[in-house]
Amino acid sequence: MFYTSTRDKSIRVTASQAIAQGISEEGGLFVPCEMPQFDLDKIGSMVSMPYTERAKTVLKEFLTDFSDEELDYCVNGAYDEEKFSSYKIAPTVNVNGNENILELWHGPTCAFKDMALQLLPYLMTVSAKKTAQGKTIVILVATSGDTGKAALEGFKNVDNTKILVFYPVNGVSPMQKLQMTTQEGDNVAVCAINGNFDDAQSAVKAIFTNEEIKAELANKNMMFSSANSINWGRLVPQIVYYFSTYCDLLDSGRIALGEEINVVVPTGNFGNILAAYYAKQMGLPIKKLVCASNSNNVLTDFLKTGEYNRNRDFYTTTSPSMDILISSNLERLLYHISAEDDTLVASLMSSLSTDGRYTVSDQLIADIKAIFDAGFCDEKSVDDTIKAHFDNYNYLCDTHTAVAVKVYENYVSSTGDDIVTVIDSTASPYKFSKSVLSAVMGGEESMLDEFQMVDELNKKTGVDIPTPLKALKDKQIRFTDVCDKENMSQMVFKLLNL
Ligand SMILES: *Cc1c(COP(=O)(O)O)cnc(C)c1O
Repeated sequence: MFYTSTRDKSIRVTASQAIAQGISEEGGLFVPCEMPQFDLDKIGSMVSMPYTERAKTVLKEFLTDFSDEELDYCVNGAYDEEKFSSYKIAPTVNVNGNENILELWHGPTCAFKDMALQLLPYLMTVSAKKTAQGKTIVILVATSGDTGKAALEGFKNVDNTKILVFYPVNGVSPMQKLQMTTQEGDNVAVCAINGNFDDAQSAVKAIFTNEEIKAELANKNMMFSSANSINWGRLVPQIVYYFSTYCDLLDSGRIALGEEINVVVPTGNFGNILAAYYAKQMGLPIKKLVCASNSNNVLTDFLKTGEYNRNRDFYTTTSPSMDILISSNLERLLYHISAEDDTLVASLMSSLSTDGRYTVSDQLIADIKAIFDAGFCDEKSVDDTIKAHFDNYNYLCDTHTAVAVKVYENYVSSTGDDIVTVIDSTASPYKFSKSVLSAVMGGEESMLDEFQMVDELNKKTGVDIPTPLKALKDKQIRFTDVCDKENMSQMVFKLLNL
């Protein structure tokens, strides 16, 4: 299995090269050259496996330059039951009728990013051994809140790696901020930037591709890589849980082998939903992929009209991990759907960076619509949905998950398509206690501090508080730097002592 670039399909790299490098030289994203196929027998045979074995079954099709021993080492290390609060790793919960929620937040940082970022450091170090000749890998991360912490936790104290995280100073929840600023480990650094997530992400991409900076690093026997979902090593672990949830639905008798399901994903950078698209292309019986956005609804508009236009107001919402106007992984979808038209993708991406917009052909958007549906949800509906789901079904969801639940409800009422559905739940409600508590209380603002709100939410709902969040209360703050987005490259030099 080889990988190529969305902007130059003459490129051929192995999985290890794609993972160690993160992004292709000319700025394109690595994509698999072919799609492994899983027939129903093979899917059926995965039902009796634990999560780790399901993961190996999927991953070995993509990581063909990893030996079985290497894959065992990676997967068993990442999805250790001790580090996850559910032995199922990613359990599927039936909420009501055909509505099922796939809980992706049982890992150490209580967000779905752990599903990939617990595995990525293993994939990265094995890949670097094969391809990077002993270089120290410097992971640069732009985060809208959850990736930063999950990457820090995954990479802390991993030999031959350093990790630097940039987050928007006013764009993350108090709990997310505390998780990052208290991070332990000898190879980690965290810095806030005056700007939003898109500013941070654009600056990180520019640093990655800056020849001068790369040369400086090479002199010191270092190289950059990425832990954002532009890295193939972030996406491939996410394909696994779509197979796993399908197996769990089979196991509980909610579907029969071969029966189609719908999948609804609260979306930001388009990574999670793209993983579901890959699962579908591999043969998993998925009918529609429903892309759910918050008020930053650039993807809803694109998926309805074919025009992607980021020239619009940016909203800071209660679902900050989805406050994104440039969804990087859409580039991969455009590449696949356009029958691998790298010239087209390169030109669309260049319009996006110069004009902030592009429009695809009627045919292309029709092909996308055959697979994807989309909707968005405003702030008021997020609160109402959290309250209604708790009151009616005794199920407490976080703000991101609530966006998806609401978009799912709208999808069913407008299409009548109410087949068995999996809605991704991407964070523990306790990561966003203030918003969730106020929603459950019917809009009442609380005067309590962050940890008192956590306790209050626990008292009101009886839902367990995740241990890692409880423990934050007693941790020391280690990182207080704030820099302007123009100065991020200097900050990188400073943090690396160059
Ligand atoms: C990252 C994140 C998302 C968005 O996922 P993408 O893969 O970027 O689309 C949604 N919810 C939460 C809680 C997240 O952390």
